[in-house]
Amino acid sequence: MRELECDVAVIGAGPAGLAAAAAAKKNGAEKVVIIERDSSPGGILQQCIHPGFGLNYFHEELTGPEYAGRFIAEAEKAGVKVLFNTMALDLREEELMCSGPGGLLRVRSGAVVLAMGCRERTRANLVIPGSRPAGIYTAGTAQRLINIQGHMVGKKVVILGSGDIGMIMARRMTLEGAEVKAVVEIMPYLAGLRRNKVQCLDDFNIPLLLSHTVTDITGVDRVEKVTIAPVDGNKDPICEESREIQCDTLLLSVGLIPENELSRGRGVPLSSVTKGASVNQYMQTEIPNVFACGNVLHVNDLVDNVSRESERAGRNAARYAAGVLPVGRPVSAVPGENVRYVCPQRVIPGGDEEIRLFFRVAAPGEEVTVSARSGDRVLVSRKAPFVNPGEMESLTISAEDAVGLTADITVEVKGGAR
Ligand SMILES: Cc1cc2nc3c(=O)[nH]c(=O)nc-3n(C[C@H](O)[C@H](O)[C@H](O)COP(=O)(O)OP(=O)(O)OC[C@H]3O[C@@H](n4cnc5c(N)ncnc54)[C@H](O)[C@@H]3O)c2cc1C
Repeated sequence: MRELECDVAVIGAGPAGLAAAAAAKKNGAEKVVIIERDSSPGGILQQCIHPGFGLNYFHEELTGPEYAGRFIAEAEKAGVKVLFNTMALDLREEELMCSGPGGLLRVRSGAVVLAMGCRERTRANLVIPGSRPAGIYTAGTAQRLINIQGHMVGKKVVILGSGDIGMIMARRMTLEGAEVKAVVEIMPYLAGLRRNKVQCLDDFNIPLLLSHTVTDITGVDRVEKVTIAPVDGNKDPICEESREIQCDTLLLSVGLIPENELSRGRGVPLSSVTKGASVNQYMQTEIPNVFACGNVLHVNDLVDNVSRESERAGRNAARYAAGVLPVGRPVSAVPGENVRYVCPQRVIPGGDEEIRLFFRVAAPGEEVTVSARSGDRVLVSRKAPFVNPGEMESLTISAEDAVGLTADITVEVKGGAR
């Protein structure tokens, strides 16, 4: 069996893995290796040919491949080695087992960064009733077929779920000549970014039906129609008000699942809400030599946040491998009023880096106050004109403000109409 030794091993060459690897290299790790199952780098961004990337990070509007290209160049320049067509199979205490072109490969490293991204939820996850004809795709699969393989997937389309991928595909399908009859969302509010609703639905007169769901799929060889119905406060369909929409294609944009099989195998504790690892402000999981970042940690709407968070993971993985990462007893960062989750979930007081807490609200609100407090001490607070579960929020606490904390940090969103 082939063997490889390095300071930091990164699993995944998407934007998270590329940024983490380059940062590890720039922060003293001599040998940094990325394990990537695909034949090329960039992860999901390779198929995201629309613009909208990089506004925060580069202050420019880039397409997905352009954005990924900047980090590919960065990783190359830093001297990161990428092993393509190589699948990480098993993360063990002392080693990472992989399978690649030369057969099995054993990788030993001082630290490991998990950057495996997400996969999409499918019809099977939702258990939508009906027949099983062709013409049902996850939105990301349809995106790959159209943008990379050049296959148009349908002509009359209904999209279930108002996540960003669904809205982006509503516009893409329209630009390719299809008729998108509706985007159907079970929640009473949008699941994705407002800017995507404006640019992808409103600009193309595509109806968004909130508090609605698909209750049946009909078709023998190919989808012929779907039945939709409004839902009540418990998300149960009101079947007497259902109606049929003739279509040949149903796209599903109903959520992403972090790819945490390797993490689970290694015994990395996962959050029951994010389905990603529980980490501290250094992006370090509860297994000290394992770090996590990007969509495998929590589903991000903006890749710019992924890049910054991943640089933090890579930098601190390098510091761990060199034996210089601060240690200490953590306090928990917990969701308070109208907050669904906080990531990182733990903070080591007295560390040497500012702490950026990412969180999602539980329900939309307007003119709210967003704050983090430890006991009665408010660490940071700001006003926000609008919050929505589809848009990730963050608060930054300086390293000095976290010195000596003993009580949990609670993030809360108060006030505002919901
Ligand atoms: C359709 C779509 C549209 C989007 N639009 C925007 C937008 O307009 N603006 C924006 O800012 N963001 C957008 N995003 C979000 C952004 O693309 C993601 O947040 C980002 O790609 C996440 O990066 P990642 O590296 O964590 O995951 P990924 O990009 O998914 O990369 C994960 C990598 O890990 C590899 N991998 C997984 N498991 C293994 C294994 N076991 N062994 C080896 N390799 C493995 C995969 O092959 C992949 O290359 C969009 C996302 C999608 C899906």
